[in-house]
Amino acid sequence: MNKKKIYSDYKEKIITLKKYNKLYYNDNNPQVSDDQYDTLKKNILALEDKYTFLKSKDSPSTVVGFKPSKNFKKIPHRIPMLSLGNAFGENDLINFEKKILNFLSKDKSYELLYSAEPKIDGISASLNYKNGSFKQGLSRGDGKEGEDITANLATINDIPKKINFGDFPEEIDIRGEVFIQNSDFENLKDKFANPRNAASGSLRQKNPEDTKKIPLKFIAYTFGYEKGLKVTNQFNFLKQLDKWGFKTNSLNKSIKGIKNLIINYNDVEKKRADLDFDIDGIVYKINEFSLQKRLGNVANAPRWAIAHKFSSNKAISKIIDIDIQIGRTGALTPVAKIKPINIGGVLVSNATLHNEDEINRKDIRIGDTVTVERAGDVIPHILSVDLKKRSKKSSRFIFPSNCPSCGSKTIKEFNKITKKIDAVRRCSSEGYNCDKISIEKLKHFVSKEAFNIDGFGKKIVEGFWNLKLLKFPQDIFKLDYKKIEKLEGWGKLSVQNLKYSINQKKNISLERLIYSLGIRHIGLENAKLLSKHFISFSKFKSLSKQTDYEEMLNIDGIGETQVNSIKSFFSNETNLSVLNELEKVLVVKNAIQNSNDGLLKNKTFLVTGKLNGISRAEVKSLIEENSGKTVSSVSKKLNYLIIGDKPTKKKVDNAKQLKVNIIEQAEFLKMLNKTS
Ligand code: NAD
Repeated sequence: MNKKKIYSDYKEKIITLKKYNKLYYNDNNPQVSDDQYDTLKKNILALEDKYTFLKSKDSPSTVVGFKPSKNFKKIPHRIPMLSLGNAFGENDLINFEKKILNFLSKDKSYELLYSAEPKIDGISASLNYKNGSFKQGLSRGDGKEGEDITANLATINDIPKKINFGDFPEEIDIRGEVFIQNSDFENLKDKFANPRNAASGSLRQKNPEDTKKIPLKFIAYTFGYEKGLKVTNQFNFLKQLDKWGFKTNSLNKSIKGIKNLIINYNDVEKKRADLDFDIDGIVYKINEFSLQKRLGNVANAPRWAIAHKFSSNKAISKIIDIDIQIGRTGALTPVAKIKPINIGGVLVSNATLHNEDEINRKDIRIGDTVTVERAGDVIPHILSVDLKKRSKKSSRFIFPSNCPSCGSKTIKEFNKITKKIDAVRRCSSEGYNCDKISIEKLKHFVSKEAFNIDGFGKKIVEGFWNLKLLKFPQDIFKLDYKKIEKLEGWGKLSVQNLKYSINQKKNISLERLIYSLGIRHIGLENAKLLSKHFISFSKFKSLSKQTDYEEMLNIDGIGETQVNSIKSFFSNETNLSVLNELEKVLVVKNAIQNSNDGLLKNKTFLVTGKLNGISRAEVKSLIEENSGKTVSSVSKKLNYLIIGDKPTKKKVDNAKQLKVNIIEQAEFLKMLNKTS
């Protein structure tokens, strides 16, 4: 790679990181997980290490937080408020200690004493006291300058306003963490992703009266500027804080030796789910102030402290209950309700247990202490059970033999293809007879790829269902708008909008309608195949009178599984009545019959680049309607490569090499006797 390219890659990463910092520190609205953020930061640091010519004033090796917001007065910190270096395992700790001993020129046998303090995941604040009175409070900001949030901090009960102890310094900046308890976060969880964002958002309100409404807490752990402090080490300082009336963390410990730091770390990690506040690791600080002073700082963190972080994709918690959720197709999915735990910035309180077999295989029980994993966008799941922590009274989880919603028997089907009994247990009721299945069917009916009714989401389906405004899909088109208008959260305008969106969707294509019905094994592609085969809604509906379903096996792509599922759908009276009722309220467009000798007969096409005023999907359907075919790659079988704006160079080169016709949008449209 050349220097220019390396630099532009690096620059791009720095810009992205800066954007994430603003969203996290300033807007309290992170758009990526901590894991993603930390990976980007690591990549930048690795690039700086490898290519020494890379430099930026915004490098994560030098910056702290984000510049103060314009909403507050900016005040410089007399002693900077820094970030902390991170350690993710024993090796990082060994290296940390080695570097310190080298710096202090001590040999290996020298035993360093650490103050080990749980790292509360809140936001730090610096409180200035003069002659025992709270005078000014600042946020960390970018470490050099903070926001003047004195009035907001003054609303926090844990912050003493007057301290009357003779040994309290004449002037001191007491520093610590403002946070919100998990139990209080419950009421704010719709507004913020996690307690840290909630604390930061609430503390940095423009109006202190708004801050006062939120029960914020404060725990003290360090100091900045001081005049007259008579303490020589961190542990005694923490004791003094306690005496002066500040809250300190009851899990703070003084510890010698890396092995003991790890024991304490594992211990605290196990207690994490039981704490009423969020911690994201343990901070280790060299205890003696004289050594801290000698060690000093690197650009953005003290050399004498490190944060031993908990994993950002795994955590230990406890199963409070096992819930059985019932899906649209009747599948029973067990979900573990766990004590809420922050994994990489996301508060996790549910973990999927997949199915009955998974519970049996892992012998997962209510009350178990478990390791939960949340990686990327995958739904959190249970990795393992800590059997040592299992209570003697615990018993195996018995999967319900009857549906928890409607009481029908639950069954496991035999899969003819795999020749095995399914891992999934299902409610045996026929769709609309089971309330839970019904609700899920309705949610599917209005979903994006189905009827896609604007403003008619899952929550509205549930709300209307509970008020008995809705039971079957056809009810959506006969809603009692007068009643809805009177409901909380609704008004004339919103009802008008809803009515408009629903009416707009009364015209629907046959393929979307078939998909919306939520027939098991009939997804988008199969719905398309069926609609092309039946052409009209009445023909599709007449399947109810048919005895020979086998004929459908001739449809390319439809197999025995789908045929059986359609048969079972049409053998149910409620489903037939839903179809009849829908026919009365909808205008179902016939599927376009593709002629076999259209203008593009026997011709294959591929699009590369952005076309003008026409989507890829539309081009595809134009090609298919005219008997042509689309393919997914350039090969000898390709007849035409349609190129738009910024085409993929490789595709164009390959096409040239294989002498494929390369045409532009206008030429393609000309083939169809169209101009636009
Ligand atoms: P940090 O939060 O990892 O560590 C420094 C802070 O720890 C201090 O400022 C202080 O507030 C706090 N702390 C708690 N207890 C303490 C104690 N006993 N002693 C000393 N300090 C204590 O550092 P940071 O640089 O502010 O933030 C980095 C973290 O924020 C990372 O975990 C990162 O993933 C996350 N982040 C995420 C995003 C995102 O978009 N998801 C963006 C930016 C930062």
